[in-house]
Amino acid sequence: PGKLYVVATPIGNLEDITQRALSTLQQVDFIAAEDTRNASRLLNHFSIKKKCIAYHDHNENSQSGKLIEQLIAGQNIALISDAGTPLINDPGYHLVKQCREQGINVVPIPGACAIIAALSAAGVATDQFYFGGFVPAKQQARLAVFKKLTEQTFTSVYYESTHRIIASLTDLQTSMGEQQQIVIGRELTKTFETFFAGTVAKTLDWIQADRNQQKGEFVLIIAGVEQNSEIDQKSMALLAKLKAYMP
Ligand code: SAM
Repeated sequence: PGKLYVVATPIGNLEDITQRALSTLQQVDFIAAEDTRNASRLLNHFSIKKKCIAYHDHNENSQSGKLIEQLIAGQNIALISDAGTPLINDPGYHLVKQCREQGINVVPIPGACAIIAALSAAGVATDQFYFGGFVPAKQQARLAVFKKLTEQTFTSVYYESTHRIIASLTDLQTSMGEQQQIVIGRELTKTFETFFAGTVAKTLDWIQADRNQQKGEFVLIIAGVEQNSEIDQKSMALLAKLKAYMP
């Protein structure tokens, strides 16, 4: 059988494509792309001429079967999404799962990924982190998700779109309090790349004051609750002792 190459593409800056991604895209028999028009733009830029077929959220199920047949027949296929690493909040899960079940080789060609880019430059603890995907679109779900984070000791990371960034930050403030520390990574690797770090309250002031900052693509990083520092543990122990003397 052939191999499925899961190829990461840039999240903005086209120079972030890897040598290995380019040679893989050149060598495969064809490319399965989330959006064939976006794919053509990328391929044209690198002067790669290759057949592209659509593989997206709406045809993932039916398309996976066909792709599996072609892989079994010996075709090598590259899977790409619109930006960054496929399967990271992008199509591909069905295909990769089926390949694994059928013993077809799946080869990752790593590269850009917005969460990792944001974490690498945010200045928050990254030894452990939780990735929550997109912040829920509905307010109730959003408030509940953020409420849960008040107990999270490690960093949390979410994707957010331009349409809901203010609503999300507002709900984050409601659920976690204005003093919660966050970092926003916006338009990473692009011309207007911006990082803003501070309390939710400060971040809201900043973003509401400048419409331009509300545009584009966002990674929202939420610091974990104070990882019980030594002093905290001492205070807690003291409080516990004092409690015994309280009326
Ligand atoms: N597969 C992609 C990856 O590896 O990062 C993520 C795809 S997901 C459908 C798209 C979301 O990722 C955007 O709404 C945004 O939250 C985030 N994102 C993608 N590119 C970004 C960038 N250049 N700067 C900030 N966030 C970005």
